[in-house]
Amino acid sequence: MTSFDQLDLAPSILKSVKEMGFEKPTPIQRDAIPLVLQGHDVMGLAQTGTGKTAAFGLPLVHHLLARHDRPAAKTARALIMAPTRELVNQIADHLRAYVRHTRLRVNVVMGGVSIHGQRQKLARGTDILVATPGRLLDLAERRSVFLDTVDFLVLDEADQMLDMGFIHTLRKLEKMIGKERQTMLFSATMPRQIETLAAEYLFEPKRIQAATPGKAADKVRQTVHFVAPGEKIALLKKCLHNNDDDVSIVFARTKHGAEKLMKNLRAAGFPADSIHGNKSQGQRDRTLKGFRNGQVRILVATDVAARGIDIPGVSHVYNYDLPEVAENYVHRIGRTARAGADGEAVAFCTTETYGLLRAVERLMDITIETESGERPERALPATRRPQRRTPRRGGNHQARSGKSENGKRSYGKSNDGKPGRDAYKKRRKPAGDRARAETGEQGGHGGSFAKGSQADAGKPRTQKASGKPRARRNDGGGKPGGGSGRPSLGKNAPRRRPRRKAAAA
Ligand code: AMP
Repeated sequence: MTSFDQLDLAPSILKSVKEMGFEKPTPIQRDAIPLVLQGHDVMGLAQTGTGKTAAFGLPLVHHLLARHDRPAAKTARALIMAPTRELVNQIADHLRAYVRHTRLRVNVVMGGVSIHGQRQKLARGTDILVATPGRLLDLAERRSVFLDTVDFLVLDEADQMLDMGFIHTLRKLEKMIGKERQTMLFSATMPRQIETLAAEYLFEPKRIQAATPGKAADKVRQTVHFVAPGEKIALLKKCLHNNDDDVSIVFARTKHGAEKLMKNLRAAGFPADSIHGNKSQGQRDRTLKGFRNGQVRILVATDVAARGIDIPGVSHVYNYDLPEVAENYVHRIGRTARAGADGEAVAFCTTETYGLLRAVERLMDITIETESGERPERALPATRRPQRRTPRRGGNHQARSGKSENGKRSYGKSNDGKPGRDAYKKRRKPAGDRARAETGEQGGHGGSFAKGSQADAGKPRTQKASGKPRARRNDGGGKPGGGSGRPSLGKNAPRRRPRRKAAAA
């Protein structure tokens, strides 16, 4: 399949696609669009940047056009749920572009903005509703919107929705949403909890996969600086100064840290701004606009605020603070090297955060090339060198990926002899609380899930940039594993749902 014309989409959609400058479908679009057009439920392993919004959005619009009906007051025909307000806005913008030549209406609901205006818009009926789960549940419980007529449902960035503690909200919503629907679920990672969620939401789904996280990162040149904590800010300024034509995202661990860092950079004359959960929606929107139009060239961000945001042209991602959850590194560096461009991911690592770096390297099965400083394991006396807990043996996937049998990453005793995840847990809020505080979104009711296994975490891969390998694949390679097989769903096996015939083209 080489062109959109061969995908049997309605002419008005093809016209929009052409206007958007899409010449040929991305791999996930090529795989997903025919399946969705045929009426299948779809479960996709895909990150942002792969074109997944169009993968579900274009066939969804096609189905709505083919059915000709109009939405009744306070109902929605299609519902797309996403974890953050930024993502909701971004998806809605894409959908509005796809429906430009149709009469379909796209509406958004999300926390952090007045509920009144959202209720008024919902009253008129909505073709495509894009929503964060917390605000949607609020509106549904107030009977401002009824979801039983939803024919098409998309759960986007499902892993992040679980990370943010939305599981109970999603369960409540599932009971409200029409059963005779077609459902698509997209997630950048496939921990076990996603499989459970999928079993509740999807009916005999077809599985597709855009690219493994490691592959998505292959175009990114990854390096690490080993640095003393007190010297990080000076190093960052030096790096930014050396690349002062570039567009960069700098990741910080906390909202407070991000704000402080941004102010420090501004005081030094850098065109920086910040995006995190302490900013109002208006401020976040203005910041992103400034970043997109080039006024702001350095965006200091926290994970949750930046996840899934599609900003073309980001050349550098700085992991000023390494993420405490290794998978977030993959999401972070996915902000650069988009649409075929090259990008650089620069990590700052201190002795204290070396365990976090090792967790990332284990997850991706690479050794990130050192740009400056010395690996703490080499600098440490022999007695304090990181000890490998499990001997590496051929085919021992768990030992390589750092995952326990239940698919969760084992941080209990980190390889570098430092306090592992259990220790972090003690001084951190639960993931759900942290994430909700971060977005201001009303999440689930106390539920949160730890990250689980990643479908292809054990696969060997190499790093290339400008034809030059920058991160070494670990010796011994790896073998596919870690949840790549179809899970046994047990009591969560999907209930039979009467299927609607695929809409005529
Ligand atoms: P997404 O993964 O949906 O966030 O999309 C990432 C970026 O790729 C967005 O800026 C889209 O506009 C762009 N995009 C999506 N599909 C295509 C395509 N077939 N050709 C070129 N660009 C695309």
